[in-house]
Amino acid sequence: MLVYLDNSSTTRPYDKVTEIMTEVLRNDFGNPSSLHTLGIAAEKYVKAARKSLAAALGASEEEVYFTSCGTEADNTALFGAARARRHQGKKIITTSVEHPAILEPAKRLEEAGFEVEYIGVDQKCRLDMEQFKAALSEDTVLISVMALNNETGTIMPVEQIAEIKNAFNKEHGCDVLLHSDAVQAFGKIPLNMKGGFRGVDMLSVSGHKIHGPKGIGGLFVRKGLSIPAYLVGGGQERHMRSGTENTAGIAGLGCAAEICFGDFDKRIKAMSEARARLLEGIKSEIPDIIINSPEDEWAGPSVLNVSFLGTRGEVLLHTLEQDGIFVSTGSACSSNKKGQSHVLGAMGLKPKEIEGALRFSFSEFNTPEEMDYVTEKVKQAVTRFRKLGSFR
Ligand code: PLP
Repeated sequence: MLVYLDNSSTTRPYDKVTEIMTEVLRNDFGNPSSLHTLGIAAEKYVKAARKSLAAALGASEEEVYFTSCGTEADNTALFGAARARRHQGKKIITTSVEHPAILEPAKRLEEAGFEVEYIGVDQKCRLDMEQFKAALSEDTVLISVMALNNETGTIMPVEQIAEIKNAFNKEHGCDVLLHSDAVQAFGKIPLNMKGGFRGVDMLSVSGHKIHGPKGIGGLFVRKGLSIPAYLVGGGQERHMRSGTENTAGIAGLGCAAEICFGDFDKRIKAMSEARARLLEGIKSEIPDIIINSPEDEWAGPSVLNVSFLGTRGEVLLHTLEQDGIFVSTGSACSSNKKGQSHVLGAMGLKPKEIEGALRFSFSEFNTPEEMDYVTEKVKQAVTRFRKLGSFR
C-alpha cells in the first residue's frame, strides 16, 4: 500500500491538470503576447485560469495576478507594501510561525530600517490576539498573517484581524494594509474576498498545494490598491509581474482551482474524516504523545502534527517510508539553523518534543482504511524505536 500523507509539502496533480498542461506544452505553446493565432490561443488559457482563480477566491479577475510561486507572491506583497508605504510608518506586524517566504523578506525589511513585531502563539499554534491588538499602532504600515499554518494546520484568525484593522484604520485615519499567506489555506478553508476576507488587501496562493503544478502562484491585490512590482521588465500581468507567462502552469492552476472549488465540501469532508480517524487511532493506540495540532474550532482539515516522545521523527519517517507511508518531520523548508522547526519552537515545545514530531498532511484521496494501516505502522515504528531506548 502507498499512503501519501505529505500533502502540505506538495500534492499529486489532478489528471485533468496534467492533461491540460500537456496540451498547452505540445500544441498551444504560443506566447500570450504574440498577435498571431498561436498567441491568441495561449492567451485564452490565461484568461480562463484567471477567471477560475478569481471565482475560487470570490474576487474579480482584475484583482488576480499570476506569479512564479507562492514565495514570489509573498515577496511581492511584503516588499511592495513596504515600499509603497515607507513614508507613512516603519512598523510591520507578522507572526513567529510564518513560512520562510514571509520571515526572510521580513528580515530584509528589518535590515532596511523597518521595525518588525512577531506575534506569538500558544502550544497549539493559536495566535496571541492580545499581543496583536497591543502591537497595532499608527506607525504600522503592514500586517502579514498566514491563514493556515503549514506545520500544525492551525487556522489563524485572519477575519478577526481584518475587522480589527478596519476599525483601527477608521478610528485613527490610518491605512494599515493586511496581507495573508493563504498558500496552505487555499482549498482547505473558505477564502471569500467579498465575504469574511473582505478586509484582506493582499493574499498569496500556490498551485502545487491544491493538486495543481509546482512553479505557479497567484497574488490577489484588492482593486484600488497600488503596490510596486517585484519583477519589472516586459510589463506582463498588467505590469505587476513581468516575464513571459508560464502558460502551462497557469492553465494547470486554473484547472486545479476549478476542480477543487467545484467540489469543496465533499473534498473537505474526506480530508477531515481521514484526519479524525488517524487522530483517534494514534490517541487510542500509542501512549506518551503530544498532539501539537488544535482539536477545537482552530483545527484545519489538512494537517495533524504529533510528537512521539522518546523517538526521533526523522527515523520514524524513514521507517514508515519502508511501509509505503510518506510523511514529514515538520516543514520541508525550516528557517531554523539547527533544522528544528521554528514553529514548534515558537509553540514552546522542548527540543526533544520537536525531535519526535511528525506531520501528517491529508488530501481528499486518503481513505479510512489507509488511516488504520498508518496507525498500525506508526505504532510498530514507535514501539520499536522506544525499545531501543536511546532517547529515553
Ligand atoms: N507559504 C506557505 C505557508 C507554504 O507552506 C509554502 C510552501 O510550502 C509557501 C508559502 C511557498 O509556496 P511555493 O512553494 O509555491 O513557493
